[in-house]
Amino acid sequence: MKSEILCVGTEILLGDIVNTNSQFISKELANLGIEVYHQSVVGDNPQRLLDELKLGFERSDIIITTGGLGPTQDDLTKETGAKFFNRELVLDEKSLKELKEHFNRMGKSYSDGNNIKQAYFPKGSTIFSNPYGTAPGCAIEDKGKILIVLPGPPRETKPMFKNYVIPLLKKYSNGIIKSKTLRIYGLGESSMAERVSSFIENSTNPTVAPYAKEEDIILRITARAAEEKEALSLIEPVEIGLRKILGVNVYGEDDVKMEEVLGRLLIDKGYTLSCAESCTGGLIASKLISYPGISKVFKEGIVAYSNEAKIKRLGVKKDTLDKYGAVSPEVAKEMAIGIAETSNTDIGISTTGIAGPDGGTPEKPIGLVYIGLYNRGEIKVKKLLHAGTRDMIRKRATMNALDWIRRQIL
Ligand code: ATP
Ligand code: MG
Repeated sequence: MKSEILCVGTEILLGDIVNTNSQFISKELANLGIEVYHQSVVGDNPQRLLDELKLGFERSDIIITTGGLGPTQDDLTKETGAKFFNRELVLDEKSLKELKEHFNRMGKSYSDGNNIKQAYFPKGSTIFSNPYGTAPGCAIEDKGKILIVLPGPPRETKPMFKNYVIPLLKKYSNGIIKSKTLRIYGLGESSMAERVSSFIENSTNPTVAPYAKEEDIILRITARAAEEKEALSLIEPVEIGLRKILGVNVYGEDDVKMEEVLGRLLIDKGYTLSCAESCTGGLIASKLISYPGISKVFKEGIVAYSNEAKIKRLGVKKDTLDKYGAVSPEVAKEMAIGIAETSNTDIGISTTGIAGPDGGTPEKPIGLVYIGLYNRGEIKVKKLLHAGTRDMIRKRATMNALDWIRRQIL
């Protein structure tokens, strides 16, 4: 079966909202093993919507739409679908009851007015109820063509897709597509691709593909098979081979975050941690704290931005600051030792750098960051030089610091 996605909404065409529904549905269809051949967007205009349906069904068997199901006059997706399939709209009593109940729950009084149109569906459709909003979705199947109509708001679209559309489409997919992602940090995209080139070039099933993300690189292994177990057994040997080559550079899988990997590792190995941040300004602490288990190991984070704060809060020596400047390996070291001592932790991590856009010099250019790492009596410092905006420099320094702690503990 060939499928396509058609999102309805002038807001998308104007660039006022991002079309995340297409992304979500594409991913879900890939998991189901259904090929997506086109994604399109059309404004809230019934004629152009009808044209899109005609065009789409000339080349595909399944069209999934989102948007245009609400109570207002310009919400016309169902009406247009009915017209395309030449069916009348009929009232669905169950949907009407749910609609009234929804109004009740929200403490609003119901009147038919525009609202009742949300309980009308093309005759013979399968209806998907919507516990998160007022507009149910539906599917119309006719002569091998399937139109699936979903609401626009993602918090309604997603559960409806999972609860109704997946079971409906499963019978049309032959086999599944299963992916596993390895998350890599500490290698550039090209040097990683070089190391694993034999896997990338010779891969058919599973395929291996690298993608550079904002903060790391991923390698996606994707297998096609009749069922999940078979797909996983195709993926496994490839994963083992990749891990062997990439070693410690693989920090996690799928959607795991660096802070979560690090948090678990600190807990497992019994290390406590504190941080003293200058240029990263709390990003390290904030990332760590986004991992819910971190309170067991993370004790304290200080943003010591000025020289005075570095002296007063962390015990950095005035002499060191005068002699080497705030952005120096010496100061990074004293910051890391200072925070570990005052907060009594095994590890203290520090950052000091020039994030720009001003303040760079030939000796100390924008993007220069020193990271200090105190680890149970041992002190190390690392120099980074990243290009990019202020925001990117700070984010990269943060990821680098977290990854460095991970490597040290391993
Ligand atoms: P409503 O009952 O809220 O009117 P609807 O099904 O008619 O829902 P739209 O009016 O088209 O949907 O869109 C409502 C909201 O849903 C938009 O303002 C936007 O926030 C979100 N939305 C719509 N389409 C998309 C999309 N393709 N991707 C992400 N969000 C979307
Ligand atoms: Mg609407």
